[in-house]
Formats: sequence, structure tokens, C-alpha cells
Amino acid sequence: MTYQPVTAPPAPLIDPFGRRLTYLRLSVTDRCDLRCRYCMAEHMVFLPRKDLLTLEELDRVSTAFIRRGVRKLRITGGEPLVRRGVMDLFRSLSRHIGDGLLDELTLTTNGTQLGRYARELVDCGVRRVNVSVDTRNPDVFRQLTRGGDLATVLSGIEKARAAGLAVKINAVALRGINEFELADLIAWAHGSDMDMTLIETMPLGEVEADRTEHYLPLSEVRERLEARWTLADIPERTGGPARYVRVAETGGKLGFITPLTHNFCEGCNRVRLTCTGTLFMCLGQANAVDLRSVLRTSNDDAALDEAIDRAVAAKPKGHDFVIARGRGPALSRHMSMTGG
Ligand code: SAM
Ligand code: SF4
Repeated sequence: MTYQPVTAPPAPLIDPFGRRLTYLRLSVTDRCDLRCRYCMAEHMVFLPRKDLLTLEELDRVSTAFIRRGVRKLRITGGEPLVRRGVMDLFRSLSRHIGDGLLDELTLTTNGTQLGRYARELVDCGVRRVNVSVDTRNPDVFRQLTRGGDLATVLSGIEKARAAGLAVKINAVALRGINEFELADLIAWAHGSDMDMTLIETMPLGEVEADRTEHYLPLSEVRERLEARWTLADIPERTGGPARYVRVAETGGKLGFITPLTHNFCEGCNRVRLTCTGTLFMCLGQANAVDLRSVLRTSNDDAALDEAIDRAVAAKPKGHDFVIARGRGPALSRHMSMTGG
């Protein structure tokens, strides 16, 4: 005789196209201590605090996703490390690693606060971090970030590595800004045993400049790199937009995130939650479900599960970014809002 379990295991999150959702990117703030020109306007109006999910709400909603099969959680922003109390969130979420429910707790950061928090992140079970460094020229860095100090970021990276964190460097490829520096940036990252990923600019949010002026297709970057190095495709797929190569001469791994020139949606395994609790099923589409109101009207996780199911059922097949001169952003929300 067999017995039915008293409580059925929670159903996994599978969208209408059969894609299983195992990866949540969680933005914990829209604020940042930098103002990268491709990401933010100079004078941003940030959200009032009451609109942000509290740390408890962020934990509760993450836990709901983890119960439903999310195995990887990336904390992002804005700059996640400027959110007050963010380490309490990391600490509480780390219990899911201990329980074997979460494979990876990680973050994307601009690195300015890494020196301060690296050890604590390791204590909380974080093993890898992505750090955005678009240039190693201090003047270009200051210009591009509107006042950032490169030395602080580089020292943060050193402290992170010394604390035992694996570091991956992210750089947005920008025509006329870092385009001729990218090979050196890669050589530096690989020479220091760090993977590197190049990102194409995405038309998200109003920024002052015309972004098309700096749009640099990664196909062009790849061609230039191939004149210098041998790039061998690696079949690795993370369910995300990155495609990877091994650079024979450096031995390092290089990723290309090309949302505009390459369609990467068929294997998509992820969803994004903004710091206000809006769940976006696709970075490039507007449909979303408000989880904050559900979190605030009921302590019952069944209602939360139901809202998540509704969102998953509406996950679009793919996006359709368009970057065309004068057309403005495809979506009015900034990357700092949705989380990169
Ligand atoms: N503040 C952190 C950082 O800079 O890494 C995390 C948030 S940031 C929004 C995440 C990533 O998105 C960064 O690597 C950043 O360079 C990238 N990003 C921001 N705006 C972008 C845009 N319009 N197009 C492409 N990438 C962008
Ligand atoms: Fe801040 Fe990151 Fe946006 Fe730069 S890319 S302004 S560091 S959120």
C-alpha cells in the first residue's frame, strides 16, 4: 500500500512555452552612488522609501520563489550594497543555501562598497560576484560614472578576491568611449583570473544623451578581438543572454550579452523583481504583475503563490528591443529599476 504525502510538494514554475523558471533577479533599491551615463540621468528622482519592499518583504517573496524551485538568486539594483541593512537580507537568505534549496546566492555590484562587505558576503554563502568595470582609465571612469573613483572599485575587487570571492567583470561596450580599450580590459581580467562579460547597450530608460551614438554591436567587437586572439565557442548555456568563448591566448572565459543582435529567449529561465515588488517576466517586455500589493494585503503565502502563477502563465515568448536613432528608449523604465 502506498500513501499520498500529506502535503504535495510545491509545483515548479513552468511557463506556457515549457521553460522552467529557476533564476530570480531581485532588485533591492533603485538608488546608486554612481550615475553611469548609459544607465541613469544625472538628476534622478528616486522612489520614496515606502514604495520599496522592506527587507522582510524581500525575504518573504524570495522564499516563495525558492519554494517553487528557484535555485539561483541574484541581488542587484541600482547599487545593492547601498541599500541599508542589505547584509541582513543576505544573511537571512543564506539559510536556503544551508537547507539545500538554493544553489547560488550572488550579486551584481559596481564595486564601490565591496571592500567593506566582501568578508561578510562570504560569511553569508556568497561565492561569486559580478563587478561592473567599463574602463580602467580613471578619467574615463570618472566621466562615464559622473564622478566615480576607479581606485576604490579596484581595491574593492582586490578585497573581494582576497576574501575568496570569484569575481566576474562586466563591461558595457560603448562606441567612442571604451571601444579601443576592451581588449586590454579583457587581458587584465583574464590575467587576474577573472572571467569577463561584454554587454551591448540596451534601450532602457531616458538618459540625457542619444544612446545610439555609443551603441556598439558586439559582432563588431568580436571581429576586432579575433584579429588579435583566437576565440573558441564554449557550448555553455546559463539560460541567460550570454554566449561564451575561451580566449586561447589568455586562457580566460569571455561572455557576450547581445540582446539586440542575437535572440536568446528560447532557453530563458529567469524572472526579475523590481525593488517595488513588480515582477517582470521579460527584461524587454512591459507585462508585469504587482506582488507588493499581495504581500501587503495578506500574510498568507497562498495568495502570493497564486499571483506568481498568474505572472508565470503570462511570460512572453521573447522580447523585441529596437535601437534606432531618435526613437528613444524601447521601455521607459531604467535598468537600475528592473535590475541588470
Ligand atoms: N549597480 C550595479 C552594477 O553597476 O553592476 C548593479 C545594477 S546595474 C543596472 C547591472 C548591470 O547593468 C551593469 O553591468 C550595468 O553596466 C548594466 N547596464 C545598466 N544600464 C544598461 C543599459 N542601458 N544597457 C546595457 N547594460 C546596462
Ligand atoms: Fe549605478 Fe550600476 Fe546603473 Fe552604474 S550601472 S548607475 S553603478 S546602477
